[in-house]
Amino acid sequence: MMTRRQAIKTTALASAALATLPGAVAQPLITTLITTAGSGPFTLPPLPYAYDALEPHIDARTMEIHHDKHHAAYVANLNKAVADYPGLGQKPAADLLKDLNAIPEKIRPAVRNNGGGHYNHSLFWEMMKPAGGGEPAGDLAKAIETNCGSFSNFKTQFTEAATKVFGSGWVWLTLKEGKLAIQGMPNQDSPISQGAVPLLGLDVWEHAYYLKHQNKRADYIAAWWNVVNWEFAAAAFHAATHRPA
Ligand code: MN
Repeated sequence: MMTRRQAIKTTALASAALATLPGAVAQPLITTLITTAGSGPFTLPPLPYAYDALEPHIDARTMEIHHDKHHAAYVANLNKAVADYPGLGQKPAADLLKDLNAIPEKIRPAVRNNGGGHYNHSLFWEMMKPAGGGEPAGDLAKAIETNCGSFSNFKTQFTEAATKVFGSGWVWLTLKEGKLAIQGMPNQDSPISQGAVPLLGLDVWEHAYYLKHQNKRADYIAAWWNVVNWEFAAAAFHAATHRPA
């Protein structure tokens, strides 16, 4: 239950945010702020598009629950985990995940799971876009060809890896030690904890597809290719390969 004080704070936040935003994104943001449970240093980023923007490939109701409930819960639980460690709350989630051994043991599993959930989902929303799909261009396209032989081979390999993740997890295209890799990972484990740069990730937890596709993960994976934001992946690749020495 939200206390009256929290409700007032939430309403004020929503109004302030609304005043600065164009109409198109106002709706998801209001919902975001209202449904973000708890308070603390970590906040739920708004979806960068409307809930229904990825239709018919990913349905609006799934996007709403996935973002407003699942992602919000990771944020709330991460805030709870770091509540007694103010120093940790001042760091970006990525920094916590990059060195999990530096996290006090007592809260390490919670930070790994909920920090990972927060970080991975924040990327996931950006890694999709309306009218996405197709193929990457530029350096990333070349690297995929070099590593996988062709884009079509890459797509097959990534799809296979996504299909094989047992239970809840993700499949990632990453850059690690200068090389592209495709890897399935369990739960909310993040490639960033293994020193890899995430370029593209697919959430294959059932919560990501069950409403529309029920048990048919393969149908969800096939639909997801139509909303991939290759510009995001290409920019992440470019940034990672053009770092100042
Ligand atoms: Mn998810």
